[in-house]
Amino acid sequence: MKVLIVEDEKPLVESISNYLKQEGYLCEIALNFNQAESKISDNTYDCIILDIGLPDGNGLELIKVLKSNKSKDGILILTAKDSISDKINGLEIGADDYLTKPFHLSELNARIKSIYRRRNLAGNIEIHFNEIKINTEAKQVYVNDSVLNLTRKEYELLLFFISNKNRVLTKLSIVEHLWGDNVVMADSLEFVYTHIKNLRKKIIESSDNDYIKTVYGLGYKFTDQ
Ligand code: CA
Repeated sequence: MKVLIVEDEKPLVESISNYLKQEGYLCEIALNFNQAESKISDNTYDCIILDIGLPDGNGLELIKVLKSNKSKDGILILTAKDSISDKINGLEIGADDYLTKPFHLSELNARIKSIYRRRNLAGNIEIHFNEIKINTEAKQVYVNDSVLNLTRKEYELLLFFISNKNRVLTKLSIVEHLWGDNVVMADSLEFVYTHIKNLRKKIIESSDNDYIKTVYGLGYKFTDQ
């Protein structure tokens, strides 16, 4: 799960990002409107945690930018205590949910997960693909009801594949989703092969099916067709 934290209060950014990293999220940070605007134009996120009161702009304007770019990123706005109008405006222009400051990090986590489920899994905790079942709450994968042991990256990779089944995923989009844009600058994206190869091998060994297809020159597709 890849999130962007847009917030100008540094201690708050740090506590959010430390907490979410422990929970296994990939976190990117924008400390002001301009940074956020450039991040959202270059990247996609499962969820954007968006502070409304930024020093150089109003967070609500970023929602408008996202929507005009036809972005599918989830949006959770952070609002000050008494700003009913921010909450209502935010939801009306396309935020998925809001959280009023101050909040508990565990509640933030629960809301991000709920947004993710609503947008990607039709509200379900479990996601199925033939004999493969993923419990996104326990982060556990089963093949024919037996546990499939995956590393964290393999798990994220499988979830990303199955959430985008039958669609070609470029190597770059996979790297961006799993490692963020720090790694995208690296010369070689070869390391992603290793993870895909290992995941593919584990699936073949446990299910006898090879769902990860290489689409020559483009990327990969998770499919049974
Ligand atoms: Ca602020």
